[in-house]
Amino acid sequence: MSKDNRKTPLNLEAESFKKLGYQLIDQIAELLNSFDSRPITPPSIAEEWNTLIEPRPLPEIGESAEELLTRATKLLLDNSLYNGHPKFMGYITGSPAPIGMLGDLLAAAVNPNVGAQILSPAATEIEKQTVGWLAEFIGYKNNCGGILVSGGNMANFTGFLAGRAAKAPKDFKEKGFAGLEKEMIIYCSAATHTWVEKAAVLFGHGLNAVRWIPTDDANRMDITLLQAAIQKDLDTGNQPIMVIGTAGDVSTGVVDDLQAIAQVAQEHQLWFHVDGAYGIPAAVIPEMKNTFTGIEDADSIALDPHKWLYCPLEAGCTLVKDPQHLLNAFSSHPAYYNFDQGGDTHNFYEYGLQNSRGFRALKVWLALQQVGRDEYEKLIKEDIELAKYMYDLTYAHAELEAITHNLSITTFRYVPVEPQEETYLNQINETLLDDLQAGGEVFLSNAIVDDRYALRACIVNFRTSQKDIEEIIDIVVREGRRLHETS
Ligand SMILES: *Cc1c(COP(=O)(O)O)cnc(C)c1O
Repeated sequence: MSKDNRKTPLNLEAESFKKLGYQLIDQIAELLNSFDSRPITPPSIAEEWNTLIEPRPLPEIGESAEELLTRATKLLLDNSLYNGHPKFMGYITGSPAPIGMLGDLLAAAVNPNVGAQILSPAATEIEKQTVGWLAEFIGYKNNCGGILVSGGNMANFTGFLAGRAAKAPKDFKEKGFAGLEKEMIIYCSAATHTWVEKAAVLFGHGLNAVRWIPTDDANRMDITLLQAAIQKDLDTGNQPIMVIGTAGDVSTGVVDDLQAIAQVAQEHQLWFHVDGAYGIPAAVIPEMKNTFTGIEDADSIALDPHKWLYCPLEAGCTLVKDPQHLLNAFSSHPAYYNFDQGGDTHNFYEYGLQNSRGFRALKVWLALQQVGRDEYEKLIKEDIELAKYMYDLTYAHAELEAITHNLSITTFRYVPVEPQEETYLNQINETLLDDLQAGGEVFLSNAIVDDRYALRACIVNFRTSQKDIEEIIDIVVREGRRLHETS
């Protein structure tokens, strides 16, 4: 071995690093300026996806970083779906903010391990402040605790596990399910996101431990049925432990009556978890405060900065009213860790599922400061107004049927002028969605509303303008007509 610095291509020397970095930044800047003129998705179809990359065995010897980066950039720029495109409004993925892209680069360069504070002194402080600001943003108790995670599913899982640890019998940590005398039961509305299913299966409860409470006419959890279900479980010797409210359901953006759920939770000493992965940032708007009344009583809340705070993937966050609950659920102290530096040492590995942790907080922390509360409030409000504008345009159009508008989600469908059977309408809208998605001009997704197959737009996109909405209407009608005429 040489005494001097080891020579390895991994150790890119400074001049090449700068050259490659500047080239890459130039290309990214170009991308950011051209979302509008690119197709949202490349013209390839699913059958061709596996030809995008040449099949080859694992390389035996290395290649030049410059060539690799050039090829990878071209491959990705030509063959990606751009959720930063102003007409992307499918599912729920935020349009990525450039400051977040730079933040991720900086985070990767410093590479703090935000599992332990001694390994990430400043980064841990930044994450603590980010958690506090996110709580303040939505009007949650600001001495709560929390942790950044990869997204909404993980944020909900983290809250779920904290709640379970808080409500399970004292010896649950030792004995697990084998020691239970009563089955632990979880309540949520029928409109709750699929994460609950995953949690019930993965964390050992089984699907039968979940009570999917039907929704009322407004698609909110029916509180009378919730109470009845809890009573029935108590009568049959089960142990209700947790109720989950949704603040912005993934299909149509409806917010449950969180205040009423909070009261039921309090009455029965249940853990109250709020899934606000999509919708809860709208609580920053003073006129919308009423919609979210009750979140202050939540024991835990999931939110997703990579959705409506426009951070690049991945960034989710769990907030917990009393951070001790996270410690109770997740903390352990192996002999090989020397992480307790006394004082206010904050080791994030004790607050969640991960051990080594990346620095996701940086991009969120930077965006919150670059944008500020007032501008965020304005952006979120505008997204809601754009969704409402879309609803109004579909309502007014003879060949479109407006179905729902809540928060920044609008659902509607194409309806030919002459009356048609429901089955035909469902079928033509399903085909229409496929065609629109493949066409690359606009990206919508779908929702099933009262058995109607609806096109669904969710605007969490600061790049979308009124003009985009008007053009989308024209595109949908044009394609709908074409399908109808050729069917
Ligand atoms: C998106 C979403 C989730 C899942 O979040 P991911 O970031 O995709 O893991 C959970 N619940 C709701 C209400 C959501 O909108």
